[in-house]
Amino acid sequence: MTQTPPKPWHKRTRAVHSGTRRSQYGEVSEALFLTQGFVYDTAEAAEARFIEAGPDEFIYARYGNPTVRMFEDRIAALEGTEDAFATASGMAAVNGALTSLLQAGDHVVSAKALFGSCLYILEDVLPRYGVEVSFVDGTDLDQWKAALRPDTKAVFFESISNPVLEVIDIAAVADLAHGVGALVIVDNVFATPVFQDSIALGADVVVYSATKHIDGQGRVLGGVICGTQDFIRNTAEPYLKHTGGSMSPFNAWVMLKALETVDLRCRAQAETALVLARGLEGASGLRRVIYPGLASHPQHDLALRQMEKGGTMIALEVAGGRAAAFRLLNALEIITISNNLGDAKSLVTHPATTTHQRLTEAQRDALGISEGMLRLSVGLEDAGDLLADLQQALARV
Ligand SMILES: *Cc1c(COP(=O)(O)O)cnc(C)c1O
Repeated sequence: MTQTPPKPWHKRTRAVHSGTRRSQYGEVSEALFLTQGFVYDTAEAAEARFIEAGPDEFIYARYGNPTVRMFEDRIAALEGTEDAFATASGMAAVNGALTSLLQAGDHVVSAKALFGSCLYILEDVLPRYGVEVSFVDGTDLDQWKAALRPDTKAVFFESISNPVLEVIDIAAVADLAHGVGALVIVDNVFATPVFQDSIALGADVVVYSATKHIDGQGRVLGGVICGTQDFIRNTAEPYLKHTGGSMSPFNAWVMLKALETVDLRCRAQAETALVLARGLEGASGLRRVIYPGLASHPQHDLALRQMEKGGTMIALEVAGGRAAAFRLLNALEIITISNNLGDAKSLVTHPATTTHQRLTEAQRDALGISEGMLRLSVGLEDAGDLLADLQQALARV
């Protein structure tokens, strides 16, 4: 197999070409190596490969696979990291990045506004293994400063939080964290690899749920951890390859092909999101439209400093609480009720009764997740059709 060496290409070119490995057949479209195992010519060759596998030598798909390696190399090139490890889901990436690094006695500081399953790992799983976790309001730098300690091993946050779309100042938090020698692990799902260079802003490790914008077409689960070669191969990989969180070659192939269009899709979705956010702001029946690309967003300036665009997600606060929010959901004709995001199809969910149902009312209040809040993931449909759909649904609330 031949590999494309890293090149100083723009992101859009990297997303199409980086990491390609061609077999002896010279295929144009990346090959799907749907194989669990690999054969050795001799017993000595098997022994040698177990001692040290070369860059084009594989042992078992849980350890690595040529199609998975292509996806890892391409996303690492896109993200601007030395290496990446692909995982079975976004949660395998979040869990793998944290658990491979931490041990009993370590301290972690985390933003409290987190995706439900991320919160479960930080609040329930890590403390069970003797890791102490302090939670802070991620937008308040004084809280980060107060929580960081000499024994803080890592900080964790979603660069844009789910579902209230708070923007966290990566450079400022990374500065503080690096001051005590802590590793900065950023969940960059909402900001996407297209709009934000978290590594350049100071993050050390970036994790994605590739299930979201990277697949972007609602098909397969996947995740990825991006970081230095040392972190990926000496910390994350040993843990993940032995505990079973690896990505399947089929899913890696779907994700590889999806990376070819991720830039186009995210840009189109973000443009439409801005049209919808502007079109809905001030509409009767809505208390608030939360979108980082709107001047009314409390961290609009920071959002545009960190991200090229406002992103593909909008939070809407419907007047009239849960009943009104449900009426709006049930009146939509194009936009579908689903808790996934980043899809080509526009999807909407009521966080208080779905993604954040597990939280107590007090926890939801603290995070700003009201009974009237809806989270809208903007897809690839016509912007005018989507705005009309939301307006007709609002009129029927
Ligand atoms: C969806 C999501 C995850 C988890 O990803 P899965 O692929 O569903 O396991 C983690 N973090 C954020 C911010 C997400 O939106």
